[in-house]
Amino acid sequence: MPDTAELVARMLAGDPLPEQTPKYVDCLFTSANGKRCRNPVFRSYLGLCALHENLAHKRDDIEVRAVSEVLLGGPDAELRSRDEVSAALSRLFVLVSQKRISRKDGTLLAYIGSLILQSLPVAPT
Ligand SMILES: [Zn+2]
Repeated sequence: MPDTAELVARMLAGDPLPEQTPKYVDCLFTSANGKRCRNPVFRSYLGLCALHENLAHKRDDIEVRAVSEVLLGGPDAELRSRDEVSAALSRLFVLVSQKRISRKDGTLLAYIGSLILQSLPVAPT
C-alpha cells in the first residue's frame, strides 16, 4: 500500500489509485510533538486537510506581507526618488540572498526596479 504522500502525488497527477485505496488519505501535517493529523485530505496541493491548508495559506500571506514591507521599506513607501529605489534594490539583494524571495521573482523585481530608476530624473550635481 503506498503511503499518504505518494497517494496525494498520484491524486494530483490524475493517476489512477490502487483499488484498495481508501476514499481519502490522512493529512500530512505533523505537530511539533510528532503527532500526525488524522483529518482527511480530499484534494489538496499540499497534501493537507482543509484546516491545515488554510493555516498554511495564512502563514504564506503573512510572510508575503512581511517581505513586501521589508522590500519597500515600510507600508507607505512610494519609490519616487532614485535613493528610495536604490535602497529597495539593495533590500531586494538581501531578501533574495536569504531566499525569502525566489530567484525568479527577484529577477523580475530587479528588472522593474531598473526601469523605475531609468524613468526617474537624475539629481543635478
Ligand atoms: Zn490536518
